[in-house]
Amino acid sequence: MRPYFFATMVLVMVGASYALGGRDVVDAAGQASAAPSGKPYRFEKLAEGVYFATGTGVMTTMSNALVIVNADHTMLVDTSVTPAAARALVAQVKDELTPKPIKYVFNSHYHFDHAHGNQIFGDDVEIVGHEYIRRMHLTNVLQQRTNRSFTGNLPGQIAQMKQRIAETTDAKERAGLEAGLGVTEAHWKAVQEVVPKPPNVTFTDTMVIHKGGREVQLHFLGRGHTGGDTMVFLPAERIVFTGDFFEGRPGGGVLSYLGDAFIDEWPASLERLKALDFDVIVPGHGTPLRERKQIDDFQSYLRDFWRQASELRAQGLTAQQATERMDLSKYAAQYGARAGRADARAVLRAYELLQIQMPM
Ligand SMILES: [Zn+2]
Repeated sequence: MRPYFFATMVLVMVGASYALGGRDVVDAAGQASAAPSGKPYRFEKLAEGVYFATGTGVMTTMSNALVIVNADHTMLVDTSVTPAAARALVAQVKDELTPKPIKYVFNSHYHFDHAHGNQIFGDDVEIVGHEYIRRMHLTNVLQQRTNRSFTGNLPGQIAQMKQRIAETTDAKERAGLEAGLGVTEAHWKAVQEVVPKPPNVTFTDTMVIHKGGREVQLHFLGRGHTGGDTMVFLPAERIVFTGDFFEGRPGGGVLSYLGDAFIDEWPASLERLKALDFDVIVPGHGTPLRERKQIDDFQSYLRDFWRQASELRAQGLTAQQATERMDLSKYAAQYGARAGRADARAVLRAYELLQIQMPM
């Protein structure tokens, strides 16, 4: 899950539509084509038969995916945010990459923006995920803090966008806002269709699949972003899909959402990621990167976050007071200005974990 998306969705949407107008779009063949294709995903070839898929902004997709084309079938890592977004991804894979049917789906973790497309796949497809993902999908995930905080306010965002459209006198701004409004309204409609579908094949530690001329390893490295994050590792291609367990982009960090995290355990789990023999990290948000140092930086952030939250709680501050007080400004250079201020949901999560460890 992308942090702060909730607060900045309007800007993100406007930004996306503007960016699309001017930026080159790289198509599946790796060739740059000018202007928007109007398609919701853009594919980037990372290795033979391995494609990074990311949203273009014409539809709410929210998270990245990985497409793995094998001898007689296709594999998909993460299923996007809604059934509609997943159907669009599958259709575009068929149009642009391969007619081979998707036989395997892997979920990096249980969060809505990576797994709420699962329901478009029937039981003829192996939907593989950590047993924690299945357990969470069988609870009321739609009602929980994370889904509610990112999805529940969509009507409020739509109302806000309409008001800004009514107020603006700038034609270019209005066009951008109207495009963003269309995307958000379509997303709100798509969300109504969601019925979480849990993985139908689960594992707890490691699973290795040799199919269609490809080796795919699934690794649970310990609790982190959630209680069941899975690394999808392609040893021959030296590519690892990390979901939200580790996010980044070349040259700069991307902060993961901490609202369901095991913040105190996460740095040690990240240490185990370094033991995998990869060159390229494909994150759930951000873009593929090679800089391992970003893992060190994120470990430092997490340790500092946990230390500050623990100290402030021990001093008797409420989670809200701690959110105001925490100082993460030294991470702004790496993660952007917003990172200087703690996310209230992350502090609440730290307090939940501390309450279990040190009740008071
Ligand atoms: Zn997530």
